[in-house]
Amino acid sequence: MVRSLQNGIESQQPVSGAPVMSHKKFITLAVAALLIVVVAWFGQVTNQEVGDIVQQQFTQQQLLLTRQAAVGIEGFLDERTALIEVLADEIADESPENMTAYFRTVYSRSKGISSIGFANSEGVIVTGYPVEDVAIGLDLYATKKNVSFDRARDTGETYTTNPMLLVQGGIGSHIGVPVYSDNEFKGVVFATIDISTLSDRYLADVIPEGHGHVYMITMIGRSLYDSAHKEMIGKKYIGSFCTNNSSYAEILSEQMQETEGTGYYFDESSGEWRIVAYTPIVWHNHIWSVATSVPAREVGALVHSVYRKQILFITIVIAIILAGGGSIVLIFSRWNRELENEVEKTTEDLKKSNTELESANTKLKELDRLKSEFVSIASHELKTPLTAIKLSMDVLRSLSGSEKDIRTKDELLEIVDRNIERQNRLVTDLLDISRIETGTLKFNLEPVDLYDIIRESVRSMRDIADRKGISIHTDPEGETLAITGDRDRLVQVFVNLIGNALKFTEKGEIRIHVQMVAGHPEIRVSDTGIGIPPEELDRIFDKFHQVDSGLTREAGGTGLGLAICRGIIEGHGGSIRAESEVGHGSAFVIVL
Ligand code: ADP
Repeated sequence: MVRSLQNGIESQQPVSGAPVMSHKKFITLAVAALLIVVVAWFGQVTNQEVGDIVQQQFTQQQLLLTRQAAVGIEGFLDERTALIEVLADEIADESPENMTAYFRTVYSRSKGISSIGFANSEGVIVTGYPVEDVAIGLDLYATKKNVSFDRARDTGETYTTNPMLLVQGGIGSHIGVPVYSDNEFKGVVFATIDISTLSDRYLADVIPEGHGHVYMITMIGRSLYDSAHKEMIGKKYIGSFCTNNSSYAEILSEQMQETEGTGYYFDESSGEWRIVAYTPIVWHNHIWSVATSVPAREVGALVHSVYRKQILFITIVIAIILAGGGSIVLIFSRWNRELENEVEKTTEDLKKSNTELESANTKLKELDRLKSEFVSIASHELKTPLTAIKLSMDVLRSLSGSEKDIRTKDELLEIVDRNIERQNRLVTDLLDISRIETGTLKFNLEPVDLYDIIRESVRSMRDIADRKGISIHTDPEGETLAITGDRDRLVQVFVNLIGNALKFTEKGEIRIHVQMVAGHPEIRVSDTGIGIPPEELDRIFDKFHQVDSGLTREAGGTGLGLAICRGIIEGHGGSIRAESEVGHGSAFVIVL
């Protein structure tokens, strides 16, 4: 055994071709071989069965055809016999001269009758039709041909002769019918039946040419007809075609015993096995046998044709099953795909709604937090000035009229004033934000000078800046820029921004700079203060939001200023954003 590491998994493989895999291979091969043997055996059995069935059907069919041909010939002979019997009746009272007209009619209307004649009561042939085929004037007694004539006269019954070679060629039989008039024997009317003609009519087409032949023999085995061997007429098959103890001789002797059946024989002339079906013909005192003989290979060809059709049928069925199955699989997989897509889409939608719900939830939580924060800030912001006012009032009441007290009184009144102002600002801010949110903040829009607004805002903050020692730089005096806006609200914005800048700058400077960007005035209020962390840059514009820092807490405020600024600027169709670097200052950029 060798150990090898594949994809980090340790596997064991046999060195020699023995255990695991070989064993499996062997089983697979054995199963395959067994399957082949079973299929081959099954095929063999089926083949045998199909062969037997086809052969059985084939010989049955052959026998039916033979029987049909025999019935045809029998009917023909009986019909011709009856015709001559009727004729005998009709001519009974006619003179020999008049008989010819009857004979002509019957002759021309009935195929297979080669001549009709009449021998008078003395046995002399007195008339006939066609004249050239009847030996008129022949005396049957003088020529010793009177045997059949005598029998007809003596018995009063129709006679038929054994087939014989005809002068005009072919083979034929004579039918003789005694003629009576008022019970007086008048003579015998006779007709010659051309057996070769009738055989051609009833037997020639029974087996298609090239697929076999038909023959008819007498009870002593002489050929009356053979579609393949015309030269055999009148001759015996045994001796000509086969020896006495051959398989064919056996069949021929069966035929000569007035039996019907089927069989096989080896045809020595063609060197192949043939299938034969035979059936007897009975006409008066004659018994003949009609047979069809077909090469055995015809059955093989038929079996193969059956196989070909079966294979074609199976192939079509398999193709239909495969195509149908394939289509069903395709349809199902398409449905499946559509279903998957739908499920995926629904899942996506659900995920989206979930995310939206989560963010709405977060927003709600944030709002809740802001609300709590507002309550605490507002109460603190409201309470602080009130406390200061209350304390100042208490001290004021206790003051006397001394000069020192008068100074203290002035300081206290100033404190009261400042705190009232502070509370006023807070209430104003709350009102503003509420109006912005409800969309009821009104703007008094008019043409104004932007620089003028900035200068006014700076002026109002100058004292505080000076007190903190922070310089405020603006664009040079004399600049003007006409815009449309609400003067007081815009001043409110800049005052707020400058106120914030002063609040969050310990030392340094504040700059206010105006420039035109893409046709719009852009005002930048920058400071050198503590700066704002990047994650807070957007959030500081939310109401009540304050950056959590010591300085913010120290500086106080409500977190409403920037929210109001944004409301006012957006109310003017502008925008405001913050840029900052912590520790290096902030800049608030307004685009109008
Ligand atoms: P308030 O100033 O009343 O707290 P604002 O809405 O004006 O409310 O400001 C929100 C917060 O933004 C402030 O609390 C502060 O944390 C931050 N901030 C605003 N302006 C500046 C600035 N110029 N420098 C640093 N931080 C600032």
